[in-house]
Amino acid sequence: MVHHSSTTGSWWQTVKDVSLGIIFPEPALCVLCRAPRQDADRGFSRPGLCQRCANGILRHDVICSICGRHIEASQEPLCQDCIQNPRIMYRARSYGRYHSTLETLIKSYKYQGDVAMKGILGDLLVQAYDRYFENDRHLLLVPVPMHEAKERRKGFNHARELAQYVAKKRKMQIEDKLLVKVEDRDSQTTQNRKARFAVLSGCYAVDPQFQDTVVGAYVLLIDDVFTTGATADACAMNLFQEGAASVEVLTVAR
Ligand SMILES: [Zn+2]
Ligand SMILES: [Zn+2]
Repeated sequence: MVHHSSTTGSWWQTVKDVSLGIIFPEPALCVLCRAPRQDADRGFSRPGLCQRCANGILRHDVICSICGRHIEASQEPLCQDCIQNPRIMYRARSYGRYHSTLETLIKSYKYQGDVAMKGILGDLLVQAYDRYFENDRHLLLVPVPMHEAKERRKGFNHARELAQYVAKKRKMQIEDKLLVKVEDRDSQTTQNRKARFAVLSGCYAVDPQFQDTVVGAYVLLIDDVFTTGATADACAMNLFQEGAASVEVLTVAR
């Protein structure tokens, strides 16, 4: 009898919950700060984020024409770093600054793999692609690889997922296994580009089964963040050695 009444109770509870849900729908929550999104039904242009978090996405006004770094207008067209230390990759572009909302979104996505965040970051990447690369429909998308063991531990490679997102949205060619990370020597302890490049330069390789694909290819490397650019240059060095015609970089943040 007790069992019977408790079943009835849970059934009644379900009816109550469902009808209350219809009368008082739960407010949509911001994927980042979990605050209710008052703007959710007003066709707000940044789905998933509340107005405050969306305002925290900062764009670059003036950028270095090679590395895409935010610079003062008076510094145009190149930053000091690019003048003093030539880069291997041709140019890098990003949606916005690695700061505030973009930094939090990227870190949360990298460590939790939240699908809602992937959609937001993927859309920003598509917008940056349209802005800087729109006429280059022949580009081959290649995500920056992660070491196999590390990827297995983590369950996914965020750069590959973002590259697949752009490829799907813009119907582009993608080879997400073309580059492999053969050694996991990624020391973030130094922020110096030269030192990081010395550590990373032997870590990447073109998978032999893609040797023909890479010859003459116009590669667009995809990653979440461009910091010093040592990773991009380490990948670019390999791609050029294997015959790539050009290597450019697209990231969500810089
Ligand atoms: Zn928020
Ligand atoms: Zn630069």
